[in-house]
Amino acid sequence: MKKRKLIILSADAMIPEDVEYLMDKPFVQKIMNEGVWIRTLKTVYPANTYPCHASMITGCYPNKTGVDTNFYDGTHTWRAERDNIKVKTLIDYAKANGYTTANVYWPVLGDDTSIDYNIPEYFATYDNLIDTFKAHGTSDDVIDKIVKPNMHILDGNDNEGEPYAGDFIYKCAVDMILKYNPDVLLIHPCPLDSMRHKKGVFSDEVNKEALRTYDWVTKLYDAVCAVGEEDNTDFVWMSDHGQMTVTYWTRPVTLFTDAGLITLDKDNNIISQRVKAWKFNSSVLVKALDDEARVLADKVLADGLKNKGGYVYYNKEEATKLFHLADYDFDYFIDSDNFYSIGWEPWGNYFSSIAEGVVKVLGTHGHSPEIGYQPTFLAIGPDFKKGFKMNRTETVNIPVTLAKCLGITMEDRDGVVVEEILK
Ligand SMILES: [Zn+2]
Repeated sequence: MKKRKLIILSADAMIPEDVEYLMDKPFVQKIMNEGVWIRTLKTVYPANTYPCHASMITGCYPNKTGVDTNFYDGTHTWRAERDNIKVKTLIDYAKANGYTTANVYWPVLGDDTSIDYNIPEYFATYDNLIDTFKAHGTSDDVIDKIVKPNMHILDGNDNEGEPYAGDFIYKCAVDMILKYNPDVLLIHPCPLDSMRHKKGVFSDEVNKEALRTYDWVTKLYDAVCAVGEEDNTDFVWMSDHGQMTVTYWTRPVTLFTDAGLITLDKDNNIISQRVKAWKFNSSVLVKALDDEARVLADKVLADGLKNKGGYVYYNKEEATKLFHLADYDFDYFIDSDNFYSIGWEPWGNYFSSIAEGVVKVLGTHGHSPEIGYQPTFLAIGPDFKKGFKMNRTETVNIPVTLAKCLGITMEDRDGVVVEEILK
């Protein structure tokens, strides 16, 4: 029997409102009539790219994947290597079941021995990009046939400049299909996410990126048709997280400074602290460093909420249960209230508005999964129902569902198969 093909495109930070914006486009109409649209996905906490993508190919929450942050502790080095993920991935299962596997920029898959054709996500500079790929699992053949012929797209724009990086990723993915026709292909471009950070969740520039995304998606699907696999390919177009518009910013951690639990010098360097705070963009985890500080922190957060507001918070037990948190050592989880975005700094104004120019990003994510605009899921192919729509499911359900399309059962997962969308 012919092996099923599976393509999973994760268009970073795409939201259902983008799908609505593109609704009159032929390929979106085709998906609406012949495929599946799950309007929103409940992603994982933190709603950051690497934790989300690890969950999107394992069906497990971050407390099992082990990928609970984008960066290695205390650094700005991306957790790009596969050994960060502590459970088997969909790719591992596919490879073990005889499928050929490929990746273009899906996070946390550097050095992945289960991937036949791998261009992992690394943010090296243009000058050392090829060497970086080679050092992390890209074969010489893939370098020669896919990477080198497309490096001109990055000429003068380096590897993080959008939309060039996105163009490079999409074009490499198109070439992967045309040159290798792999059974399972993962793709992760970021231009929509970058533009939303820069210009806010909604803007003309973001709409332009949505149109460019659509163009590339049609090119990917054209490539599937060109190799004659359209009737045999389950084609998934989804996203990892949404974003929230930043209009107002609040800094609950300054409450601890005001209460004497954090002491700063005149340059705002922390010189002593009895609570420690660390951030995931739009949320903050706080640890009280002694029992007395914990009693005081309880009061500070309760009083702050009553008198100032601009946040919600949970204790460790509540947050761990609600958000399947990894084993962070913390006492309080401070989250956005869906109106204010959360800054972690223990100094500065308690409230800031974008209009003051203090806060530079106009869109953010890294909050809990129910807040802000949400990720979305589209799919078309032989295993999906025709013209089926549902409102919401959890991200962790997606990989186990897609595994079923390949005839594979993933063991010990948090997610369950979304039977409703399958034939
Ligand atoms: Zn992302």
